[in-house]
Amino acid sequence: MQTTLAPEYAGTADGLAAEAILRKCVHCGFCTATCPTYQLLGDELDGPRGRIYLMKQLLEGHAPSRKTQLHLDRCLTCRNCESTCPSGVKYGQLVDIGRRLVDAKVDRPASERFLRWSLKEGLTSALFAPAMKLGQLVRSLLPPSLKNKVPTAQNAGAWPTRRHGSKVLLLAGCVQPAMLPNINFATARVLDACGIETLIAPKAGCCGAIKFHLNDQGGGMDEMRANIDAWWPLVISGVDAIVTNASGCGVMVKDYAHLLQDDPAYATKARRISELARDLSELLPEIAPKLRGKVAARAGQIAFHPPCTLQHGQQLRGGVEQHLADLGFQIKTCRVEPHLCCGSAGTYSVLQPTLAYQLRDRKLTHLSEMQPAQIASANIGCITHLQSGTDTPVRHWIELLDEALPTRQP
Ligand code: SF4
Ligand code: SF4
Repeated sequence: MQTTLAPEYAGTADGLAAEAILRKCVHCGFCTATCPTYQLLGDELDGPRGRIYLMKQLLEGHAPSRKTQLHLDRCLTCRNCESTCPSGVKYGQLVDIGRRLVDAKVDRPASERFLRWSLKEGLTSALFAPAMKLGQLVRSLLPPSLKNKVPTAQNAGAWPTRRHGSKVLLLAGCVQPAMLPNINFATARVLDACGIETLIAPKAGCCGAIKFHLNDQGGGMDEMRANIDAWWPLVISGVDAIVTNASGCGVMVKDYAHLLQDDPAYATKARRISELARDLSELLPEIAPKLRGKVAARAGQIAFHPPCTLQHGQQLRGGVEQHLADLGFQIKTCRVEPHLCCGSAGTYSVLQPTLAYQLRDRKLTHLSEMQPAQIASANIGCITHLQSGTDTPVRHWIELLDEALPTRQP
């Protein structure tokens, strides 16, 4: 798509990057049919092709409005459109630029600014863990809208203490240790059973995605640099991989190389970090053979929901289902719309609750067709969001492997 940049964007990094992405779009609209917000709202401007058109207009000098901002806000950044696009349009990178440029020109109401600020500062703050503990104590008294966001307290068991020659670095995450601590502990136990030691750098924090996607891109990049500083001594000492068990964080860490490419102090290190980054499921080809004969899968159908950040963001499909099935689990993705977002999408479920809950219920309807004993996923956001709409337990797939280990059998 030919774009003539307005003078204010010509020659700028954002302008040049956006122009290169826009040039690839042939306006075919294949992406529109698979966009969750287009499916719900039926408005071209709430689909990728329409949003791309709005961003092109902005870059050509048309003044954006609150309506432009709303259409971009309603995008889940699920990147389903990238999987569908035959021309390789990097929509995710384009919408990051578009949102930044629109927000520089269109003021948000004070209430919206406050909510966005509270989310980006609150979720990544050291106060989140004590606040979550308090929320869990008074959970039964909370109104449903808050109760949905506060999982019941978990006993995560013990962290393995054996030393192994093979070591990986695990990104603990910002909200995960407080909300669902069992996911990290289960990861360490399963890897331990396969002869791999899991290290955590205590000073590493949020991957940067929360701030970055709430348009505090500078704040997000500071968190990325802080993680690189925290990880670097362990990287030098020789870890095999930097593992993420939340696919939303994984997609971000894999992008550090791109996002910090112009930072002379961090570009080389960021490239190394992204090279080492692996979603936990990418270890399955190595660890599943070591688990064969050791795990005793519980009976019952498991319905697997692959997060968008896994199947579209990281382009990883089918690995969890294939390896868990090989280990004796009855696991399947849903027959209808397996590619579609569940509506969680980071902070989207708070900022766009109507659309988020419509998508959640649509996903749960499809998942429930399998009459599952449990639902499994690979990202904390999806797990808590889906759990808020069903009594069927929603777990991380690594927890299913963990409880099938002989050491975890009751
Ligand atoms: S499918 Fe790709 S090329 Fe076609 S309109 Fe969508 S983004 Fe553009
Ligand atoms: S990222 Fe998802 S919600 Fe946004 S335009 Fe693409 S398909 Fe639609």
